[in-house]
Amino acid sequence: MSQISAPDIAAEATVPAESEVTVAGTIERPLTTADRCDACGAQAFVRAVLTSGQLLLCGHHARAHMPALKRQALYIQDETATLSPAQ
Ligand SMILES: [Zn+2]
Repeated sequence: MSQISAPDIAAEATVPAESEVTVAGTIERPLTTADRCDACGAQAFVRAVLTSGQLLLCGHHARAHMPALKRQALYIQDETATLSPAQ
């Protein structure tokens, strides 16, 4: 559930993995249709970086878990604003 596998990110992963300060800046990139919700497999619109790794969540699961994420996440990338109202 916690893979950071984008090639462009791996290429610049010169900082130690345990350096939390640089985590957000290192992994941030726009979410694409290839990013799937870790809970249901739908397209992900939220990325939450935790000390144990990252979670990708669809709009539904992001809303469902946002209170817990806001307590525990080091960083939350929220692109739910790009969701159309029709969904
Ligand atoms: Zn989901």
